[in-house]
Amino acid sequence: MTKHSPDVLIIGAGIAGLSIAYELAQTGVEVTVVDRRELYAGSSALNAGGMRCQFSHETNILCAIGSLERVTRFHDDFGLDVNFRQAGYVFVCSTAEQETTLRQAVELQNRMGVDTRIVQTDEISRIVPGLHTDDVCCASWGPGDGYVDPRALLQGFAAIGRRTGATILEHHPVTSITASGSRVTSVVAGDIEFTPAVVVNACGAWAPRIAQLYGSNLPITPRRSSLWVVGPKPDVSFDGLPQIIDIESRSFFHGDIDGTGALVFGIGAADLVEDTPDTPCNWDRFEDARRRMEHRFPLAAGAEIDRGWAGLIEATEDDNPIVGWTHFTNLYTAAGFSGHGMCVAPGLALSAAAEIRGSTPEISLDVFRLDRFDGGQFERESIYGATGNVNAENR
Ligand SMILES: Cc1cc2nc3c(=O)[nH]c(=O)nc-3n(C[C@H](O)[C@H](O)[C@H](O)COP(=O)(O)OP(=O)(O)OC[C@H]3O[C@@H](n4cnc5c(N)ncnc54)[C@H](O)[C@@H]3O)c2cc1C
Repeated sequence: MTKHSPDVLIIGAGIAGLSIAYELAQTGVEVTVVDRRELYAGSSALNAGGMRCQFSHETNILCAIGSLERVTRFHDDFGLDVNFRQAGYVFVCSTAEQETTLRQAVELQNRMGVDTRIVQTDEISRIVPGLHTDDVCCASWGPGDGYVDPRALLQGFAAIGRRTGATILEHHPVTSITASGSRVTSVVAGDIEFTPAVVVNACGAWAPRIAQLYGSNLPITPRRSSLWVVGPKPDVSFDGLPQIIDIESRSFFHGDIDGTGALVFGIGAADLVEDTPDTPCNWDRFEDARRRMEHRFPLAAGAEIDRGWAGLIEATEDDNPIVGWTHFTNLYTAAGFSGHGMCVAPGLALSAAAEIRGSTPEISLDVFRLDRFDGGQFERESIYGATGNVNAENR
């Protein structure tokens, strides 16, 4: 068995692992990333690509601002196109309670410099012509938000990581982790035994499996979420449509990033499943998901189904990630992004990398520590997450 001792070994080549790898590598840290499969096997290649600053939680907003800056500047900074469409994000609400939560979140976002606002039904109809608004109170509108091609973004982070010196090894599953006292001493991935100074668990929905390898656990639950693509219709293109989140029905939809005029949609209520390596699309939910989407957007009625797929959302109890040193003095966890890892992870990576290097992070990540769950001292992300959203339970 080959032996290797990088400064940092990152397990998991999703958006979290790759963005942290880049931030570490560009400060001269010798970093290796291992993934059990090919680059596009995790949730980061299978998601809806939505990127927004519309959160209720200050730390999520700060991270999301950083992520959007990174993505909008990706081409200028690195000469790579990650196919980001700044089409905006609309959260549609139907109850007074939802409206209060949205208004409070927008006030916080505005105080933090984010350009979002509450819009009434006449303006919603201008932003999204054809949207059904009879049962709508108002919406929040974030014109700077949008959606990205998730594969292109992953590819982009892999490319800039490699360019700055990171090694990325696909098809290297981690199968054993050995510890001695307070430290991890060895990690076996494929045919390599690593003895790194620091290990990072960035395994998303599979992060608890990594923790189980050293006899512990992480409170992250895998939930399957399915997406479908319909259309375009002969007379209607959905190209450039903002990301619309209907809070009451949990339906979400936006124009397909590939510019074909098709529509991508799903429902935020994800099923509890085993964390199997391959996650089949849940076609049993298709008709219900379609009905909810067409209620809000009748223009899509009758659009022909093109394809569907699914991925795993990695839910924590408060819909916030677990970030920081866990279980051992040299093991750092960055997982459990609860359905918004594309929005949060790239902006969080700079601060996570600083902590891994032993420096002071730009954004304090203290609210994301694992021990918040011990005493139930946590603040839930209440706009839209894996387990629930604005005052609406998962249904
Ligand atoms: C259908 C769907 C829609 C979504 N829509 C959005 C959205 O619009 N916006 C948004 O922000 N987020 C969205 N998400 C959530 C987002 O995809 C995740 O939060 C994010 O991808 C998590 O990234 P990650 O790097 O933590 O995990 P992952 O991308 O899952 O990466 C973890 C990696 O760990 C690897 N791994 C697992 N076990 C091992 C092992 N033993 N050894 C080595 N490697 C291992 C896996 O192969 C995987 O590549 C969506 C998710 C789904 C499923």
